Amino acid sequence: MKQQSTFLRPGIDSTVRGDFSVRFFQHAIAALVLGIVLFSVVIRVAEPDQTGRLVGPMVGMVLLAVIWWLIGRGRLQAAANLFAGGAWLVVTSICVFFGGVHTAIFIVYPLLIVYVGWAISMRAAALFAGLTVSAITGLVLAEHLGTLPLVPPTPLLVFWVIPVLYVSVALALVGSLVSVYQRRVGELERERQFSAEIINSLPGMFYMFDADGRFVRWNRRFNDATTYTDQELAAMKAADFFRGDDKKRVAEAARRVFAEGLADIEADLAPAKGPTIPCRFTGVRATIGDESFLLGVGLDISENRRNLAKLEEYRQHLEQMIEARTADLSVAKEAAEAANRAKSTFLATMSHELRTPMNAIMGMTSLAMRRTMDARLLDHLEKIDHASHHLLAVINSILDISRIEADRLVLEQIDFTPAAVLEKLPALIGYKAAEKGLTLEIDVAPEAERLSLRGDPMRVGQVLLNLADNAVKFTERGKVVVRLRLAGDAADHVLLRFEVEDTGIGISETDRKRVFAAFEQADGSMTRKYGGSGLGLAISRRLARLMGGDITVDSRPGEGSCFVFTLLLPRSTGAVAPAPTFGPGTAGDRLRNEFSGIRVLLAEDEPVNGEVARTLLEAQGLVVDVAVDGVEAVALARQTPYALILMDIQMPNLNGVDATRAIRALPPHARTPVLAMTANAFAEDRKVCLAAGMDDHLPKPVIPDRLYEAVLTWLLRARAPTVSGTAAAR
Ligand code: ADP
Repeated sequence: MKQQSTFLRPGIDSTVRGDFSVRFFQHAIAALVLGIVLFSVVIRVAEPDQTGRLVGPMVGMVLLAVIWWLIGRGRLQAAANLFAGGAWLVVTSICVFFGGVHTAIFIVYPLLIVYVGWAISMRAAALFAGLTVSAITGLVLAEHLGTLPLVPPTPLLVFWVIPVLYVSVALALVGSLVSVYQRRVGELERERQFSAEIINSLPGMFYMFDADGRFVRWNRRFNDATTYTDQELAAMKAADFFRGDDKKRVAEAARRVFAEGLADIEADLAPAKGPTIPCRFTGVRATIGDESFLLGVGLDISENRRNLAKLEEYRQHLEQMIEARTADLSVAKEAAEAANRAKSTFLATMSHELRTPMNAIMGMTSLAMRRTMDARLLDHLEKIDHASHHLLAVINSILDISRIEADRLVLEQIDFTPAAVLEKLPALIGYKAAEKGLTLEIDVAPEAERLSLRGDPMRVGQVLLNLADNAVKFTERGKVVVRLRLAGDAADHVLLRFEVEDTGIGISETDRKRVFAAFEQADGSMTRKYGGSGLGLAISRRLARLMGGDITVDSRPGEGSCFVFTLLLPRSTGAVAPAPTFGPGTAGDRLRNEFSGIRVLLAEDEPVNGEVARTLLEAQGLVVDVAVDGVEAVALARQTPYALILMDIQMPNLNGVDATRAIRALPPHARTPVLAMTANAFAEDRKVCLAAGMDDHLPKPVIPDRLYEAVLTWLLRARAPTVSGTAAAR
C-alpha cells in the first residue's frame, strides 16, 4: 500500500475536494441520463429526423469529458462536461418540444459556444456569452424590423432570448464558483502539504491524539519507530505503545498534559516489530475549535542511554582505579612515613652516638690541656683539640645535609638581633684571618643595627660563619668584608642582605654553578690544599632558602668573590634582650670570682661525660652533686635548693625531660635555672627541653667556654631577683 504522509480523519479535515467531486460526478451522470431520456422521448415525438444534428454537440461534450479525464485535467472538469452535456440535451429537448428543431438549434448552438468559452476560461465564457447575446439580440431586432426572415417568427423572445440569457448567466456563475472552489482546494492542499512537510522533517517522532488517546495525526518517523501502518495507528490509543509500568506512567503524563498544558516523560516505546526503544516524550496541549489535543514529540534516547551507561562504567572503573591507587599510595605513604621515621630516628641516634664520645674526647682534651704544663704534651693536646673540632664540624655538616635532604630540619623561631649574630664572627674566625694577615671588616648599615627579627639565629650564624670561613680560607692576601644591609622593609617582614666579599682566588663561571651542590668543590684537587667537605655552601643555600632567601655568588677568578646571602624574616614581636657577651676565657673567671662555692646539680649517666662536666665546673669553684639518672636528680633536688641544674636528657629510669618536670613541681625549684646539656642537639630537641620547663639547651660536645658562659648567664639572671636564695645555696 502506498504510504500516506498524513492520515486525515473524516469530519476533522477531510478533503472537501474529494467528496465534492464524487458527488458532482454522480449528479453529472444523472443529468446526462435524464437529458438522454428526455431528448429521446421529445425527438421521437417531435423531430425524429433531426436527431443527428442535435445529438452531435452532446457527443462532442462527452468526448471532451473523456479527453479531459485522460489528459489529467481531473474528474471535476470531466464531470462538469458530462453535466453540461446532460443539461444541453435537456435544454435542446425543451426547445424542440416548444419551438421545433430550429429553435433548438438557435438556442443550443450558442450555448455550445459559451460552454467552449467557459472551458477555456471564465473570461472567454463571458465574452462568448456576450457575443452570443448580442448576435441573437441583433437577429431578433433585425427580424422585428423585417430585414431578416427567420423561422419560426414566433415566439422568439420566449423560446430563444430568455433561456439563452439565463443559461449563459447560469453557466458563467457555475464556472466562477467552480473556479473559486478550485483555488480554495489548491490552497488547502498546499497548506496540507506544507504542514505535512514540517511534521515529517521534525527530528523526532511527532504525533497528535485526542483526549481519549485516539491518534489523529503523526509523522513518518512515528510510523518508522512504531512499525505500524497508518490504518493500524488510526485504530490505536497512546497507551497501546507501552508495557508494564510505563503504560501507567505515560497515561499519567498524558493526563497532566491535558490538565496542566505540558509534561514530559522517559519511557520505552514498544513497536510492532523489534525491541523496545527508550524515548523521551514531550507533550503540550493544543486546542483546536472546542476540542483539546496532545501534540507530542518523541526522541530516541538509546544513544544517550548507551553513553550514560558507558560513562557509568568508566566512572566505576575510575573509582576502582582510584581505590586501587589510593590503597597503593597509602601503602607507599605508610612505607615512606616509616622510612622517614626510621631516617629521623637514625639521624637522631647517629647524632647522639657521635656527639657523646666527641663530648668525652673534647672535654677530656680540654681538661688535660688545662692541667698540663708540659709544652710537648700541650702541643699534642692542642692538635687533638683542633682535629676534634674539625671532626665535629664534619659530623655537624653531614647530619645537617642528611636532615635537610630528609626534610627533617626544623628551624627555631625566636627573637634575635642579626647585627649581634654578625658581631660574633670576629671571635670565631678573626684569629684565622689574623694568622693569614688578612683584614676582617664587619660593616653593618645603621638602619640594620637595632633591627630585631624572629628566626633561627644559630642557623643564620652558621651560614655566615661558613661564608666568612670560606672567604678567609680562599684568600691569601687582602681583606674579607662582611656587610649587613636592609634590602627591603615591609610592615611585618624584613629582607636582609648579607654580603661576604673577599680578595681571594675567586671561582670560575662553570664552577660557580657547581659549588652549591652537595659534596662539590670548585676544584677537587684543591681539597688537599684547603680542606673542606664540600657541604658548606650546599647546606648554607638550603638554609637560606628555608628562611625565605637565597645565596648567590659573583666572582672573578684571581680577583675575589662576593657571596650574597638574603633572608626574609618577620619582625620580632617584643624587644630582644641583648645576650651578655663575654670575652674569651672571661666567663670562667667571673664564675670563679662571683659564684665560687655555689652548689649545682649535674644529672649525667655517662661517667666520662659526667666527669668532664664536673671537673670543668669544679675548676671554677662550683660545688657539683652528680646524679646518675633522673630519679636520683629529682631526689637530690628535693633535698637541696641548688642554684642551677645541668640536665642530660637520655638517662635510664627517668629521662631529663620528665625529671625536669618533676623538679619544676618542687616549690624551691620553680625558678631554678635548669640547663639541658645533651647530645640531642637538634632544634626540635631544644624545643622539647624548653617546653618541659628548662631554661636553656647546651648541645654536646660542650665547649668549656660555652658551658661557663651559659652557667654564668643563668646564675646572673637568677641572682638578680632572688639573691637570698642563691646565698642560701652556697
Ligand atoms: P668546603 O667545605 O669544601 O669549603 P663549601 O660548600 O663551603 O665546601 O664550598 C664549596 C667550594 O666552593 C669550595 O671547595 C671552593 O672551591 C668554593 N668556594 C667557596 N667559597 C669560596 C670563596 N670565597 N672563594 C673561592 N672559592 C670558594
